[in-house]
Amino acid sequence: MAYDSNNIFARLLRGEIPCNKVYENDHALAFHDINPQMPVHVLVIPKGPYVNLAEFIAGASMEEMGAFMQAVAETAKLAGVEDSGYRLIANNGEDAHQEVPHFHMHIFGGRRIMGRMIKRQD
Ligand code: AMP
Repeated sequence: MAYDSNNIFARLLRGEIPCNKVYENDHALAFHDINPQMPVHVLVIPKGPYVNLAEFIAGASMEEMGAFMQAVAETAKLAGVEDSGYRLIANNGEDAHQEVPHFHMHIFGGRRIMGRMIKRQD
């Protein structure tokens, strides 16, 4: 899938729109979700132009991938949920309701109110 360089996270990475940054390394950026669904709701994105996980794995170097996962773990720590626990979700494609076409990981936590898994809506 072609990468849309005008998607909201691409614009955010270029500094065209602000974000509430939690953590950054050479290859990843973490910031608070603008519409939090949990007391802690932070997004981690690679700095490279990847639409989804498949494109990230196909196009990113081992260094980028490692830096991304390191950013996820470090962000959870900085957000204060390392010990209390957190859930990681990466929505990929339509069935998962991916809205922003730039690969990202959600970190959810901060309160023990999440169900065990996924709530069905059928
Ligand atoms: P997804 O459905 O996985 O693509 O989720 C995209 C997420 O990006 C949603 O939770 C939005 O609230 C969040 N979001 C959209 N625009 C911004 C923004 N400018 N800053 C922070 N989070 C955003």
